Amino acid sequence: MTDYRPPLDDIAFSLKLADFERLAAEIPDFAHADLDTVTGLIAEAGAFMAEVIAPTNRDGDTIGARFVGDGTVVTPPSFKVAYDKLAESGWLTVPFPEQYGGGGFPGSVGFAMQELVQSSNMAFSLGPLLTHGSTDAFLAYASEELKDTYLPRMISGEWMGTMNLTEPQAGTDVGALTTKAVPNGDGTYAISGQKIFITWGEHDLTDNIVHLVLARVPGAPEGTKGISLFVVPKFLVNEDGSLGERNRLQVLSIEEKIGIHGSPTCVMSFEGATAYLVGEENKGMRAMFVMMNVARLSVGMQGLSQSVRANQQSIEYAKERVQGTTPSGEATIIGHPDVRRMLVTQRATTVALRHLLLLNAVQIDLAHHHPDEAVRARAEEVSSMLTPVCKSWGTDLGIQNTSINIQMHGGSGYVEETGASQFWRDVRISAIYEGTNGVQAADFVGRKMPVRGGQSFLEFLAEMRTTISEARAAGERFAGLADALERSFGVLEQTTGWMLRTGAAGDATSVLAGSVPFLNAWALNLGAWLLTKGALREDAPADEYALAQFFVSQLLPEAQAFAAAATAGGEQLYAVEL
Ligand SMILES: Cc1cc2nc3c(=O)[nH]c(=O)nc-3n(C[C@H](O)[C@H](O)[C@H](O)COP(=O)(O)OP(=O)(O)OC[C@H]3O[C@@H](n4cnc5c(N)ncnc54)[C@H](O)[C@@H]3O)c2cc1C
Repeated sequence: MTDYRPPLDDIAFSLKLADFERLAAEIPDFAHADLDTVTGLIAEAGAFMAEVIAPTNRDGDTIGARFVGDGTVVTPPSFKVAYDKLAESGWLTVPFPEQYGGGGFPGSVGFAMQELVQSSNMAFSLGPLLTHGSTDAFLAYASEELKDTYLPRMISGEWMGTMNLTEPQAGTDVGALTTKAVPNGDGTYAISGQKIFITWGEHDLTDNIVHLVLARVPGAPEGTKGISLFVVPKFLVNEDGSLGERNRLQVLSIEEKIGIHGSPTCVMSFEGATAYLVGEENKGMRAMFVMMNVARLSVGMQGLSQSVRANQQSIEYAKERVQGTTPSGEATIIGHPDVRRMLVTQRATTVALRHLLLLNAVQIDLAHHHPDEAVRARAEEVSSMLTPVCKSWGTDLGIQNTSINIQMHGGSGYVEETGASQFWRDVRISAIYEGTNGVQAADFVGRKMPVRGGQSFLEFLAEMRTTISEARAAGERFAGLADALERSFGVLEQTTGWMLRTGAAGDATSVLAGSVPFLNAWALNLGAWLLTKGALREDAPADEYALAQFFVSQLLPEAQAFAAAATAGGEQLYAVEL
C-alpha cells in the first residue's frame, strides 16, 4: 500500500485561511501558539505518524481486533508497540490544559494533528478520538476530585476513554435508553444494563479503561430529560492513584464489521458496576453534547483523512498504469481526461473540506477562549452551524473519494491486494455513527437554522459575499469566479428563506424532507467560497486558483439542483407506496 505522506503545506495554508493567527494575537493564553511554532509541531507530528502509526494500518485490517472469549480483546501486536510510542511521544497531550499535563495549545492544533493520526490508521485513531471526547466532558462537568484522578492519565494516554450511549432499543433515539444507576448511599452509584457498539470498549492497549456511561437514576423523567452521565472505570482507582478492584463490567462480544477491523466494537455489560456522577443528575445530555460536538467534527475529519489517503494512492497509480493513448500524450492513464476529472475531484474536495474543518476548529477556540464576550457568542453560533455540515459533508466526501480511488484502479481496485478497498470500507461507518448524516441535516435545519429567526445563517452568508467584492476588485482573472459565486449565493439565500418561512408556518415535514439537500447546498457553497477566498490570497499555493475554478465550474452547479430538491416539499415522499 502507498506510504502516507502528510500534506503539511496544505494544512499550514488551511490554518492561515481559517485566521488561526487571531488565536495567538487576541487570546493571551495562546500567545505562544504562533503559526510558525504550530506548523513546526505539526511537521514533527506528521513525521512521527507516518513512521510509527501508518505502518500498522494494514495489520488493523487483516489481523483486526479479536475477542478471545474470557472478556478479553486483543489488538494486532503492532498496535500496542505503536500506541506506547504515541503515548510516550506526548502528541496526545497537545490541546489540553497544562494543569492536567496537557500541552496548552489551542484545540485547533490538536484537531489539525488528528488528520495525521487518522490518515495513518483510522481504526487505531478511534481510541484516542474517544478519549479526547471523554476528556472534554470531564473538563466541562466533572468534580475537581474526578478531574484530578482521571484527567492526567487520560490526557497522557496512560488510560483510554469510551462513550457508552447506544443500547439495542436506543440508537438515534438516545432518550429511550434504560441502563439504571442506583445510588449506593456513599455518593457512588451502581450501574446495570447493556450497551452495544461501544468503540474500544475493551482492549489490551492500556491498563485501565475509563467508560463514560449514560444511565437513568430512579424516578428520572422519561426521555432525554432523565439521562445522567457517569464515569465507570474498568478498574477502580485507589486514593493513592493505584489501580484497585476490577469493576463489575465486561465485554460480551465484539462485532464483525465491514471495515475498521482494528477498532473493537463491543457489547458491554454493566452488572452493578461502581460509578461516579459527572455533573448533575438528569443533566447528562448537556455533558453528552460536549463529547458529541468534538466527536462530530473529528468524524468529519475521518472523511478528510481517508480522502487524503485515497487521493495519494490514486495519483500514484495513475502515474504508473499504462493503458491506451491519452490526448495529452502522457504514457500513463493520468493523461486521460476522465482520469484527471476523478483525481481533480478528489483533490479539490479534499482541500475545500480541510479549509472548512479548520475554520470550524478555530471558531471553537474563539468561542471557548476569546476575551470579548461578543466574539465568543458569534463564534459559538458559527461553529455550531458548521459542525453538522463538517460531519455530514466530510463523511460523504470520504466515501465518494475512496470509492473514486477504487474506480481509478480499474479491476485492481476491486481486489484486496492493492489496499484501495480498505479506505472505502473503513470510512463507510463515518456517515452512520456520531449521529447519522440524516440526523446532522435535521440538526442543521431544526436547531441551527432557527437561531435568531435565521439571522445567524444570513449574517454568515453576508460575510461570504465579501469574497465576491474582493474577487471583483482583483480584476478579470477572478471575474468568472465572482459571477458564479454571486449566482449561487443568491439561490442559497432564496432557499434559506424558503426553509425559514416553511418552518415558521409549521410545516416541519417539508423542512425535514429538504434537510439533506439543503445541507448539501450549503456545503458546496461553503467549499466554493473558501477555495475562492484562498485563491485570492497572495500566499496561495500554486494550484489553489485552478482548484477554485474547477470546484466553482464543475461541482458548485450541483448546489442549484440541491436547492430545487430542498424546496420540493414533503408530500411526494409520502405519495409513494412503500
Ligand atoms: C462501528 C460502530 C461504532 C460505534 N461506536 C459507538 C460508540 O463508541 N458509542 C456509542 O454509544 N455508540 C456507538 N455506535 C452506535 C452508533 O452511534 C449508532 O449506530 C447510530 O447512532 C445509529 O443508531 P442505530 O444504529 O440504532 O440506527 P437507527 O437509530 O435505528 O437508525 C436507522 C435509520 O433511521 C434513521 N433515523 C432514525 N431516527 C431518525 C431521525 N430522528 N431523523 C431522521 N432519520 C432517523 C437513521 O438515519 C438511519 O438511517 C457505533 C456504531 C458502529 C456501527
